[in-house]
Order: sequence, then structure tokens, then C-alpha cells
Amino acid sequence: MSTLRFHAIKDSFNRPVIEVKEPERRSSIFGKNVFNEAAMRQYLTKDSYKSVMDAIENGSKIDRDVADHISTGMKEWAISKGATHYTHWFQPLTGSTAEKHDAFFETTGDGTSIEKFGGGQLVQQEPDASSFPNGGIRNTFEARGYTAWDPTSPAFIFGTTLCIPTVFVSYTGEALDNKTPLLRALQSIDHAATAVAKYFDKSVTKVNPTLGWEQEYFLIDKALAKSRPDISLAGRTLLGHASAKGQQLDDHYFGSIPTRVVNYMRDLETECMYLGIPVKTRHNEVAPNQFELAPIFEETNLAVDHNSLLMDVMSKVADRHDFIVLFHEKPFAGINGSGKHNNWSLATNTGVNLLGPGSTPMKNLQFLTFFINTIKAVNDYEELLRAAIASASNDHRLGANEAPPAIISVFIGSQLTQVLDELEKVTDGKLSPEEKTDLKLNVVGKIPEILLDNTDRNRTSPFAFTGNKFEFRAVGSTANCAKPMTVLNAIVARQLIEFKEQVDKLITDKKMKKDDAIFNILREYIKDSKRIRFEGDGYGEAWEKEAKKRGLSNNKTTPTALKAQVSKRTVALYEDLDIMSKVEIEARHEIEVEEYALRIQIEGRVLGDIARNHVIPTAIRYQNILIENVQGIKDIYGKDFKKLAGEQMALIEQISEHIAKINKGITDMINERKKANTITDVEKRAAAYCDKVKPYFEEIRYHCDKLELLVDDEIWPLTKYRELLFTK
Ligand code: ADP
Ligand code: MG
Repeated sequence: MSTLRFHAIKDSFNRPVIEVKEPERRSSIFGKNVFNEAAMRQYLTKDSYKSVMDAIENGSKIDRDVADHISTGMKEWAISKGATHYTHWFQPLTGSTAEKHDAFFETTGDGTSIEKFGGGQLVQQEPDASSFPNGGIRNTFEARGYTAWDPTSPAFIFGTTLCIPTVFVSYTGEALDNKTPLLRALQSIDHAATAVAKYFDKSVTKVNPTLGWEQEYFLIDKALAKSRPDISLAGRTLLGHASAKGQQLDDHYFGSIPTRVVNYMRDLETECMYLGIPVKTRHNEVAPNQFELAPIFEETNLAVDHNSLLMDVMSKVADRHDFIVLFHEKPFAGINGSGKHNNWSLATNTGVNLLGPGSTPMKNLQFLTFFINTIKAVNDYEELLRAAIASASNDHRLGANEAPPAIISVFIGSQLTQVLDELEKVTDGKLSPEEKTDLKLNVVGKIPEILLDNTDRNRTSPFAFTGNKFEFRAVGSTANCAKPMTVLNAIVARQLIEFKEQVDKLITDKKMKKDDAIFNILREYIKDSKRIRFEGDGYGEAWEKEAKKRGLSNNKTTPTALKAQVSKRTVALYEDLDIMSKVEIEARHEIEVEEYALRIQIEGRVLGDIARNHVIPTAIRYQNILIENVQGIKDIYGKDFKKLAGEQMALIEQISEHIAKINKGITDMINERKKANTITDVEKRAAAYCDKVKPYFEEIRYHCDKLELLVDDEIWPLTKYRELLFTK
């Protein structure tokens, strides 16, 4: 990590505080450590530069000898910035990022050495990757996968290492990472959306999906966090009684940011500037010690990489400020969890946001086309969208009693609802000139004003239209955005392909005019996708009942939710669009199901350990203090001792009851774990962990938390919620 931009001072508790020295203008450092267009122009020959740009813009292949030139330029640039190593940087199915650093340095054989980095090393590498999850795609005898350069996401320097974003695939061509299917989905939607956009503007030749994520997180004092085995090993608290004060006063949200945290944020943002991550917004979130960071939106592949990189940078920078970042969706019971809203839209190469209002009725019909097609896609694949955000940690948010429900629905606001209601009434077949004029003036024509004034917000909706983009809010804070973005772009791509076919058919078979045909198809889509639209309170019980009537899925746990990933429809969707083969789909499904079981297993073990080896012994110690006290009272007061020691004796009994319940809970949980471990079918094993093992967590926790309230604070071994959440 680049250093010396900060120096350590001490705060009033004599703790080191990092004060960040910022440049006068952040724009002066933006992208300094990125091999971007400016750097390429300086370090590459004209031909090499053109070749990279062509690969970025049109997906063309880069010749091997050109790659040699590019790698030389890239190396010179990197060394000029102080880099000593390079790595292929990729996103295996663990969800995080992976890297293996190699030095540029090489010996020449005659006792001297040089810095070397050839085209071969840029384009392809073979990490010994047999221990990355692969869902059985690579048998151990051919445990070879390779990483291949993705020129659409620029190389960057982090610390002293040149990082080259790559895909990770097996030798037989199957995707072993999150990026490969994403790139394929982005290509699909580019083709599908471009074809549809041409109805409205022939000059459109490319459509880029855009993504602006909002990352929520908790920032906890490092020493305090490290004192808790559950936070260290599971990323969340598995027990801990609520603090007397939590978030009930709503005094944290958008409040003034504590100095120590501001210092962290400034340091982090400076790092982001160098890395070209365009972070823009920072504020307090609802829960104590919870914060949010959001960038300016970018093209989706880059935005996904930037989010993965950011999460890594956040943890590293936190370390030097003596903080730990918790990305977990629900690190503390009883207060808000964290999400990662994925704001999504489609942008044309001509600079038009397809989900934004236009200046002419035709442009607004274009908006309606993409808007309604997206709603239809979500309607048809709501269950797959739910699967894309399923994880053991996000289960604590979805379907729990706060934050978006496990039911996917779309919120569009009352004014756009009216527009769709009007469109639903358009004539079946050719539209009369009067009807068209009316539509132009009173429905389509009104859209710009409506969208300008889009103050209609519904915080309870998992998928909301917010003026010029959709906001997928149910995504978890730990998620790699590639997964939800692959699904969303794939389902909208499929939908747009179908739309185009249907419209073209009306034009050729029924001799309809283009806009008549579009109105006709959109009308049918509005009718077909009504069930997915919901404007009410998504957290309420009434909605659960209503959604059931509408036939919407409500998969509350990960093992049930994930099933949609391997359904026949999903396989057909991905195969038709060339996004994933059946083998790839099933392999990644297996990995995710397995990961779920492993996470619950880890949590179960940690909880058992803390409860048995920390909580129970402490409770016994306190009980012994009480027993000594009762004995002493008895020694002094003789047979009247009960009058004075009655409360203490009641406490002694209560403690014993809680200890008994905890101990039994742990024993039963371990037995269920043992049973689950013998199940060979991964799906059934995950279900057993979910339905048989996990339910003990609550029971064990309840009694531990009761003991926390009874036992002397002096001897309680675990840092409490109030300390974790209110230490600034
Ligand atoms: P909030 O949802 O908190 O009210 P904003 O509406 O200001 O915040 O925007 C949230 C995020 O939406 C930002 O990260 C922003 O970059 C992103 N965003 C804005 N326009 C688009 C777009 N066309 N495509 C994708 N993301 C967008
Ligand atoms: Mg938002």
C-alpha cells in the first residue's frame, strides 16, 4: 500500500490516530495507479493502444505479438510507479478476490538480472488453483485452470503490485469464477438491448449496463472486535444482550461522523482515488457504528471489480486505523443489518440512459419499452433473482422482520402506475390516429415531468424504480455484485430478445406500424406482470399473504432459495444465451449449497465453544461467589439467613437453570451436526444444517444473554454490545 500520506498522532485515550494528508484536489490523484487511457497513450505504441481500445469497445482479440508490446509498456508504467510484482487478479467462487504475486525480477543466467514481463504472462497464467471451489468440474488429475486477461477492466497497482483483472476458467473451458458468466450476460444484454434501441435510434451500436452500488458496513474498534471469537471467526456476534440504547432514538442516521471514522474514510477515499474507484458519498447509517459508501455509477463489469477491490481495500485501511470492517448482513441482533443496493440501468453508446426520460414522445416510448420489459423479466424470473442473493448471512435480512422480505416485488410509484394503467387500455390491433395523439399528449408525453418529480419512495421494496434506474435493494452487503448482475442482465436480455421477436412478427404478419406493434406488446406485458408490482409495505404480514395468493415465491432460507438456480427454466435461459452450460450451472450450485452448510457448521462450533468454554465457566464462577456469600450470611446469622440471602439463592438457582438449558442445547446441537455430517447429498446436508442445527442457535443464545444480565460485569468475558457499538 502506498505509504507516507499520513502520520500517526494520539487521541485523548493515547490511542494512535491516523491523520490523512490529502492532496489539494482529489481529481489530481484520480486514477493515478490505473493503467487507463491516459497511461496507455503514454506507454503504448499507437497500434498497441488501438488494439486494446478495440478489445474494450468491440471485444476483438489481441494478437500475441501485440500482447508482447502491451506487456512491455504496462511493465514500464508499473515500475515507474514503484511496482515490483505483478499478479492476475480474479474472483473465484469463494466470493472474494484471489491473487498470487510474482516478481518482475528475473535472473539472466550470467549473474545479472532484469525486470521481465512478457505478453504470455499478461495474457494467461496458470495458478495452482486446485483448492479453489470448483464443484467437481475439475477432477484432481486435471486440476488445472487458467486465468486470462480481461482488457475491459484496466490493470491497476495496489501497494507495490501490478494487478491484472482476469477471468478464471478450467482447461475444458468452464467458468470457475464470478466474472466469466457476468461478461457473457453483459454481452447478451448488449446485443438484445441494442437491437431494441434501434427501433428508436438507428445510430445506437452498443448498450452498456450500468451499476452503482451502495456499500453498507459496520466499523468496530479492532481490539474490541478481536476479543470476540464469534466476530473473528464468523464475522458476526452469535450472542450478546442488546444494549440499553440501540438505534431507537434514530440519532445515528446522517448524524455527524466521529473524527476517528472520518479519518478512516478520508484515508480510504484517498486510496480509492488512486485506484480510480469514483467514491462520492459517505454517511452514517441507521445503526450505531454503521456507515455507507457509494460511488458514481460505472459500466457494470468495472463497477463489480471496483466493489470487490473496495471491500479488500476497506479492510486493509481499517487495519491501520485500528478498526475492523464488518461486511456481514447482520452482525448484531436487534439493530439494522447491512445491504448493498445495486442501482442498475442501461446506457447507449450515444449517451442515452434507456431508463431515463427523453425529450420526444418517441424517446419516452423507448423509456417505457425498457421499463416494462424489465418489470416483465423480474416477474418471470423473480425466483431466480431471489436465488442470486441467497447466502447464509443474507438470510438474516431477507424474510427476517426488518429489511426487504424474501419475496421479490417491483415498486414503481403511483404516477408510473397510472401510466401503465392507461397503457393497459390501448386498443388491440392498430391504433387510431386519435388514440395515438391522446397517448402522445396525455400519457407518454407526461413521463418527463413525472420522472423529474420522482419523490415517491418505498424503502421496503426489494426492487424499486427510482427515477432513472432500478434499485435492487435485497442484495446483501457481503455479496459479490457479479451474481445478481449476471441474473438481472440475463433475464432482461432474454426478455428483450422475445420482445423484439414479437414486435417484428406483428410488423410483418399483421402489417402493423412499429409503434402500434410496440404498444400492443407492452400492453400484454403490463397485464402479464401485474402480480410482481407492489406499492405497499413490504415488511408487513399482509403482503406475505397477498404474495402467496399471487403465486410469488417466498423462499426464506438459502437451501430452498438456491433450488431455482438449477431448475429446467434456468438451465434453458443460460444455455440459450450462452451464459453457462448445465455443467457450470450445477457445479456452482453445488459450491453454494456446500458453502451454506459449512458456514452454519462454523457458526455452530463457535457458538458451542463460546457458550461452553466462556459463558458457563463464568456463570459458575459468579455462582460460587454467590454461594460463598450465602454461606457467609448463614455463618453469621444462623437459621434466619434466608431472610437476608433469599435473593442470592434465587439467583443461584436461575443460573443453574440457564446453565442446564445451554448445556443441553449444545449437546443436542452437536448431535444434529453429527447426523447432518453423515448425509452425503449436499442439498440434503445443507437442509439439515438449516432446519435441524441452526434452530438451536436462538435457544442457546437466549440463555447466554440472560446470564449476561445476571453475572457480575467485572468477570463477564465477552465484550458487550454497548462497548462494541458505542466505542468511537
Ligand atoms: P439513494 O438511493 O441513497 O437515494 P441516489 O439515488 O443518489 O442514492 O443514487 C444511489 C446510487 O445510484 C449511486 O451510487 C449512483 O451512482 C447510482 N446511479 C445513479 N444513476 C445511475 C444509473 N443510470 N445507473 C446505475 N446507477 C446509477
Ligand atoms: Mg439506495
